[in-house]
Amino acid sequence: MMSLGYTLLLIFGLVTGILIVARLIRWLRLIARAGYFTGKVVLITGASRGIGRALAHAFAARGARLVLAARNQDQLNTVADECRSINPHIEILIVPTDVTDEAQRENLVRAAIERFGQIDILVNNAGIRQGGALLEQSREAIRLHIEANLMSAVWLTYQVLPHMISRGQGYIVNIASAAGRHTEPYFIAYGVSKHGLIGFGEGLRREMAAKGIRALTVNPGFTGTEMTSQIGPVYRRMGFAMIPPERIARRTLEGILLRKPEVNIGWLEAFGGYASVLAPRIADLYWRLLMPREFPEAAARQHSE
Ligand code: NAP
Repeated sequence: MMSLGYTLLLIFGLVTGILIVARLIRWLRLIARAGYFTGKVVLITGASRGIGRALAHAFAARGARLVLAARNQDQLNTVADECRSINPHIEILIVPTDVTDEAQRENLVRAAIERFGQIDILVNNAGIRQGGALLEQSREAIRLHIEANLMSAVWLTYQVLPHMISRGQGYIVNIASAAGRHTEPYFIAYGVSKHGLIGFGEGLRREMAAKGIRALTVNPGFTGTEMTSQIGPVYRRMGFAMIPPERIARRTLEGILLRKPEVNIGWLEAFGGYASVLAPRIADLYWRLLMPREFPEAAARQHSE
């Protein structure tokens, strides 16, 4: 009969072996598809800073052609210059765009197709986040979250899909959030918009699979950008490590190469999402007992728009 120590050692060895083989297969798949992005036309919204900027850098480094959209043209120019210093041969189109405006969205897609003839990857990344107690938020601010974070992605996808379907290929990447699984208090409008975006991506990939169109949902945890500039220190005190935007970009590109349906970044935030579904009472209790006293006030100062 095997001793307990020997059995535990065997289990440990097996699990370690499986994990090493899984990592090796992952690495080989990434290497095999390393050239995938070369020449691809990638349209990124919210490309002027933060995660969008990091995504632009990452796609530039892998030889993609870029369409960069956001409202701030000066910042877009800076990001484009950074991309050219990463890849001097890169082709870039800048289209200043407010994604909540239908005419500007139409102009964006038209300009991209006129310039490059195709869009291979649409990255719906633009977003806003204003904190504060629900009843202290204006109706307009709540509506704007839905327009900027959810509906802009739905309508841009709606516009781009016919082109992708006619070519029998394409990728829709939605940058949602861990908050789309676990809504924080004092960020309700934001959480609602991100829950919607996750639902949109889920249906999309099931409906489009037979047409050769893929959809990836990326759920970053707390990331060091303007979106966490005020509340970041409070998150840190709650035990969350702020994730660098470059990591979100790297994991997004890997998610595309590995054809993942979803990428969740930040283990504590992802755990919060599972807890909200499987044990909502415990997730609620976490907020009741552990929410720092300064959270509501810091949330009310967090306005990234
Ligand atoms: P950020 O630094 O505030 O960047 C937001 C980007 O969205 C900016 O480029 C902004 O550009 C653009 N944008 C906002 N409203 C827009 C509009 N109406 N039209 C066009 N562009 C607009 O925030 P970030 O952290 O990089 O956020 C990027 C995405 O990641 C968002 O969808 C966010 O919800 C998501 N996310 C962030 C975190 C986090 O902790 N930071 C976590 C999970 C998910 P302009 O101002 O130039 O228009």
